Amino acid sequence: MKSRPDGIVIAIDGPSGAGKSTIAGQLAERLGYIQIDTGAMYRAAAFLLSRADVDLTDLAAVEQFCQNIDIRLEVVSGRQAVLANGMDVTDQLRTPEMSLLTSRTSMLKPVREALMKSQQKMGSRGGVVLEGRDIGTVVFPDAEIKFYLSASVEERARRRCEELICKGEPVTLAETIAAVVERDRQDSERDIAPLRQADDAILIDSSRLSVDEVLTIMVTRCHNKIDNIDSLL
Ligand code: C5P
Repeated sequence: MKSRPDGIVIAIDGPSGAGKSTIAGQLAERLGYIQIDTGAMYRAAAFLLSRADVDLTDLAAVEQFCQNIDIRLEVVSGRQAVLANGMDVTDQLRTPEMSLLTSRTSMLKPVREALMKSQQKMGSRGGVVLEGRDIGTVVFPDAEIKFYLSASVEERARRRCEELICKGEPVTLAETIAAVVERDRQDSERDIAPLRQADDAILIDSSRLSVDEVLTIMVTRCHNKIDNIDSLL
């Protein structure tokens, strides 16, 4: 069994609103690992493409633009921040418009290739929890442990709606359900790296589970895996 210098690679994939970010953050904290929110990276890329007004139908232009983007996840003033070409864009990424735009830009091959390379580099030493849509299937098919975190459309929309209302966004449950369905469709029907459960991923349906319950399942599985690898080395 191969070992990585800083620990194992943990992949958490699943649709939007399943609770990946919250869980990935807490799991990383429990294990002393680094959290890599790949959705935030795709959002930051969408932000840069839209700000530079790049024509998304011109793949050569998108490719050229993506060769020069620099997206980093760093802790700034005690919180996880997303830096896009040096700008702190954290607070501009989680609007409903950015979610839909990101779903469109993340279908583009040059965007995926650029971000996949940087995610593989960030995670290569291990000791990481990567969350996204294609981590277990494409970015780290050799991840030591893979989870597929899901929940019903209604439950995911309800959580997302609560989150947006808390931030002062005037949204209704009906429109949030429609947006979640549309984003699921775009993410799972795209040609490149569609949202899909890896064959060897552990499926967890979080519809009726609390964050702590999901976390307990994952921590136990990860500790078992780490102990297992240690005993083989
Ligand atoms: O996880 P989050 O909702 O922030 O992701 C935003 C969008 O980024 C997703 O709807 C998806 O289109 C894209 N994404 C992706 N691959 C990933 C992570 C996110 O295509 N690994």
